[in-house]
Amino acid sequence: MALTGLQIFKLMPKTNCKECGHPTCLAFSMALASSKIALDACPHVSDEAKESLGAASLPPVLKVTLGASDKARAMGEEVVLFRHDKKFYNPACIAITISDDLSDDEFDKKLAVLNDLDFERVGEKVSIDAIALVQKSGNADTFAAKAKKVSENGKFAPILMSCCVESLTKAVEATKSARPLIHAATEENWEALANLAKANDCPLVVSGCDLDAVAALSEKVSAVTKNIVLEVCGDSIAQKLSGLTQIRRQAIRKKFRPFGFPSIVSVNAKSAVSQVAEASTYVSKYASIVVVDCFEKAQILPLCALRQNLFSDPQKPAQVVPGVFPIGAADENSPVYCTTNFSLTYYTVEGELSASKIPAWILAAPTDGTSVLTAWAAGKFNGEKIAQFMEEINMNDKFKHRNITIPGYVAILKAPLEEKSGWKVKVGPNEAAGLPAYAKANNV
Ligand code: SF4
Repeated sequence: MALTGLQIFKLMPKTNCKECGHPTCLAFSMALASSKIALDACPHVSDEAKESLGAASLPPVLKVTLGASDKARAMGEEVVLFRHDKKFYNPACIAITISDDLSDDEFDKKLAVLNDLDFERVGEKVSIDAIALVQKSGNADTFAAKAKKVSENGKFAPILMSCCVESLTKAVEATKSARPLIHAATEENWEALANLAKANDCPLVVSGCDLDAVAALSEKVSAVTKNIVLEVCGDSIAQKLSGLTQIRRQAIRKKFRPFGFPSIVSVNAKSAVSQVAEASTYVSKYASIVVVDCFEKAQILPLCALRQNLFSDPQKPAQVVPGVFPIGAADENSPVYCTTNFSLTYYTVEGELSASKIPAWILAAPTDGTSVLTAWAAGKFNGEKIAQFMEEINMNDKFKHRNITIPGYVAILKAPLEEKSGWKVKVGPNEAAGLPAYAKANNV
């Protein structure tokens, strides 16, 4: 049973020293009760209090790590239901299935395709996270041999999916250094698989026909190992979404310990488009791992983009370092395009200018990572501020010309920027998509 803020407060030092970042011990206690801070943020709490507060100080959703070394992915540790309340910490993992009954040649080819599912988006690397090996062969040795291939040749963490204890035991033996996720403990096999997971320090999926069964099994398995991932099953998307939401809500709002673990869900839709749509639902709420069958880049990139947007910090806009940056073989005679330092805006402009194959420069003005119109409305992107920044970075010394193009949406800045900077200002298209045609037509 979770402790209230007042119950926690009774055990605190009550010196109000503020070292935890809270003005009083009471404020700290309230934050601890709502899982917004960890107990170790207070350096003065006594050992006796630590013991009493053990459960209260645990995060509502325990951290579980899938995979090892550079393939490791942390899951769980979430403390809020809604991103705008604080932020989400560990992004949902995307896992793609591969079947163990493929021929060696087909298996190697598909593994190579999965290994290639990584992308660069708005300056960050994004990729899938795991390869889910599904046993269809019915043969324990085949499953173990394919698991070894996934572990040794795959770029992502392995998930071993089988209902056979013997097959899973052999596959874990062949891959244990990669810390595969074992899928899945059921009412029938949980003791054997919990011991297997504990002995090899691997995470284990706990599966049941409904949430009551998952909760009951989670309690039993957690007495052996806390490296648990809860599986949400269902016949429909609505049923699975409801299951994922219940688990997260009960863990965070009610501190219901059997649900205080990351979750996994599989996509059942048949067509690739439906798979992506269904997976997007679970990435949004609240899966820690989403298992899908589709593996084309055009299908996976939108999922990765959605996840990247959701799992950013809403209080910190994604931004690039302000400055002037070359595109292609740009030199001191190449045209200059002005925009803001909001990552999405910058990389959209960068992508369009790169596609035009015309060497150019992008001036990313400092606007605290806000977009063009937002920055203009907030007074962060105006003639005076842009001109001031141009002076700070010595634009006059860097270029032999004095021409700069601004976004069409802020054409109003033309006169003030010309006046303050002494540069000739051209008004470009409203949208970055118009830049290649604009660059060619204007020969800027
Ligand atoms: Fe109280 Fe500890 Fe915070 Fe100091 S650091 S104010 S003792 S909770």
